[in-house]
Amino acid sequence: MTYDDDNIFAKILRGEIPNRTVLENEHVLAFHDISEQAPTHVLVIPKGKYVSFDDFAANARDEEIVAFIRAAGQVASDEGVAPSTGGEGFRIIANAGKNGVQEVPHFHLHVLGGRWLGRMLKKAEE
Ligand code: 5GP
Repeated sequence: MTYDDDNIFAKILRGEIPNRTVLENEHVLAFHDISEQAPTHVLVIPKGKYVSFDDFAANARDEEIVAFIRAAGQVASDEGVAPSTGGEGFRIIANAGKNGVQEVPHFHLHVLGGRWLGRMLKKAEE
């Protein structure tokens, strides 16, 4: 799957659409989801052009992967939800492709927390 330069997160990375940034470095941007599903709902995205988790895992440089994972952990800690720093827990979700119901085709993690999140999946979904 080729990367679509017109996707919403590409526009955010180019500064064409505003965002509420919580963390930024050379490789990563993290910002609040526009439609928050929990008190903490932050999206963590690589600055590189990767469509999905599998694309990122296969094609990102080690440096990008390390920076990305460290940033996601830092976001959880900064948001006060990381158990290792006294928080009550969180969930990371990476939707991929059609069955994963990925809406924006630029790889991202959802970091969700701040409330009881319930079980991971229901048997039937709409
Ligand atoms: P996906 O379904 O692709 O895993 O999640 C895409 C997420 O991007 C959704 O949770 C949606 O609310 C969020 N989103 C879509 N457009 C924007 C936007 O313009 N700004 C921000 N901050 N989040 C967005």
